[in-house]
Amino acid sequence: MALIVHKYGGTSMGSVERIQNVARRVAKWRAAGHRMVVVPSAMSGETNRLIALAREIQAHPDPRELDMIASTGEQVSVGLLAMALKALGTDAISYTGWQVPVRTDSAYTKARILSIDDARVRADLDAGRVVIVTGFQGIDELGHVTTLGRGGSDTSAVAIAAALKADECLIYTDVDGVYTTDPRVVPEARRLERITFEEMLEMASLGSKVLQIRSVEFAGKYRVKTRVLSSLTPPDIPLQVEANSGTLITFEEDTSMEQAVISGIAFNRDEAKITVLGVPDRPGIAFQILGPIADANIDVDMIIQNVGHDGTTDFSFTVNRSEYNKALGVLESVKSHIGAREIVGDNKICKVSAVGVGMRSHPGVASQMFRCLAEEGINLQMISTSEIKISVVVDEKYLELAVRVLHKTFGLDQA
Ligand code: ASP
Ligand code: MG
Repeated sequence: MALIVHKYGGTSMGSVERIQNVARRVAKWRAAGHRMVVVPSAMSGETNRLIALAREIQAHPDPRELDMIASTGEQVSVGLLAMALKALGTDAISYTGWQVPVRTDSAYTKARILSIDDARVRADLDAGRVVIVTGFQGIDELGHVTTLGRGGSDTSAVAIAAALKADECLIYTDVDGVYTTDPRVVPEARRLERITFEEMLEMASLGSKVLQIRSVEFAGKYRVKTRVLSSLTPPDIPLQVEANSGTLITFEEDTSMEQAVISGIAFNRDEAKITVLGVPDRPGIAFQILGPIADANIDVDMIIQNVGHDGTTDFSFTVNRSEYNKALGVLESVKSHIGAREIVGDNKICKVSAVGVGMRSHPGVASQMFRCLAEEGINLQMISTSEIKISVVVDEKYLELAVRVLHKTFGLDQA
């Protein structure tokens, strides 16, 4: 008998009928003797609807009140799911985050979980109940309701699994696992049976939207065995089949399997590049350029500073495309102070990355990647690497081509 946490996304909770299917699935696990905690999202579209309501009254809603409103979507879905389970004869009880409580800091709309009190949940589990806890929310030390940011239910589920030392956290979603790349771009993409948590973290931060990044960080930090699997299979498929489906997020040291060199190709279209031309090549220049950018709360990703000539140099960095104009504006205002000749930008770029822990033990991955892209005539505008990832910035018109050829060159295409 194991302690299992299930997480269901908005699509899985999207209608009464779907909630009844979730209940059937959970009841099946309970009937097999497992202690069950379920963390659902709001019904699909509900969080958007609630936020839109708030915006009808205030264009920039008060963050505390916004969390008060946005958190209610999950309150409805936990109640409905508890009722659906009881209707099947499975004892269940629902709680909001503040009832557990799930304690967070006070950063409304993007709060971080600080601790989770497991006493109440454990008492219900001991009494044989399925415990259903709202995703996406908690309470701060002054008793205000907070939310964890969009997609935050993944993080709630993994954090609750960590707090309860659950045997496994199963994230049910509308894809059947983590793929080598987006199957809409490369039809030959394969589902991975396993991925290490480090690779998953890179994939999530490089644009793969399967899991909220913070949930992967939690899984890694607290070593929560986490599995991403489909919620679209019939709820009555044999438990053993279901339990082994999807993609398991593992730890490198736990896998004895021969590791593929590259596990996946990630990409992100929402990128923009800014170059500051002809800045004086002297100490402090990076700080003078990026300081005002950071002060404006703009996240910077890749950074390149060229070798100087004649006492000046060029400095390039990338930002999210939605912050491109804001970043250009910030730099224009400090341009003369920096002593820059010109500021240019390009918001038609994208980032393509190869990810794999196998890179650590296989030299030559970068050159293989660059050769493959060169053969297609794709110009690399920027390059950055980490121990388990190589990213390149290319013109966005090459995105599909680059992803396809890299997927093939690293042997990721379906056999
Ligand atoms: N309901 C929240 C959202 O739509 C949280 C979640 O679904 O994970 O962002
Ligand atoms: Mg989600």
